[in-house]
Amino acid sequence: SLKGKTAVVTGSNSGIGLGVARELARAGADVVLNSFTDRDEDHALAAGIATEFGVEARYIRADMSDGADCRALIEKAGACDILVNNAGIQHVAPVDEFPVDKWNLILAINLSSAFHTAAAALPGMRAKGWGRVINIASAHGLTASPFKSAYIAAKHGVVGLSKTIALETAGQGITCNAICPGYVLTPLVEAQIPDQMKVHGMDRETVIREVMLLRQPSRQFATTEQIGGTCVFLSSPAADQITGTTISVDGGWTAL
Ligand code: NAD
Repeated sequence: SLKGKTAVVTGSNSGIGLGVARELARAGADVVLNSFTDRDEDHALAAGIATEFGVEARYIRADMSDGADCRALIEKAGACDILVNNAGIQHVAPVDEFPVDKWNLILAINLSSAFHTAAAALPGMRAKGWGRVINIASAHGLTASPFKSAYIAAKHGVVGLSKTIALETAGQGITCNAICPGYVLTPLVEAQIPDQMKVHGMDRETVIREVMLLRQPSRQFATTEQIGGTCVFLSSPAADQITGTTISVDGGWTAL
């Protein structure tokens, strides 16, 4: 059980981050949810998790595109035994047309935020002699596709950052790894299905199989619960010696 541990999950008011926070709470951890908004429904998500799983859950606003905000999130959390860097955005354009502001924003949110939060969290982990840094990279942290240069550069960077943090914390009770999901069925992905069905004139099952999951050999989405379960596993004693590596949850994408 993760009772007594506090997990901070960045970008966790939807999708994978929320699924990860829920699974860590189910395993007994107190959780801190985060995004850049500060709405009633953000705080209600935390209250719901607290009630459902009988843990402490808080929502703390912090903008992961801002280094000072990233560090302030860890300070405000008070404790951070399990740090899950999940916040991320995407933009699709060829390199020679890629908007510079989008490039900078994606590098800031998808890569630099993990540097800042880890820098702020590691001293506390060292003091306790236990810690977990889990970075949500992507199959695109290991392979590429056209038109996603910033995202792919950032996710490859996250894999490299994870290895470096692992070396700097080796033998200190702290591990750092990157999870590399393939296509995960989040509300964002779910919302694309009707459009894709229309564009391709296919039914739901066919568009998922033949268009969306073309590169995922299982032809099945990974779920947010499975990404959360992988975080729970990485936080368990069985994973004490798993550090500086990547775990693909991609239905075989990177085996192709
Ligand atoms: P999502 O859009 O549902 O979640 C992104 C989260 O990040 C949201 O909670 C959002 O509020 C938050 N966020 C965005 N900008 C932020 C900022 N400036 N500061 C703080 N929070 C911010 O998408 P998702 O699919 O759940 O993606 C989560 C992570 O998983 C991302 O890093 C993404 O790259 C990665 N990933 C997703 C998939 C997939 O198929 N869905 C596959 C591989 C990797």
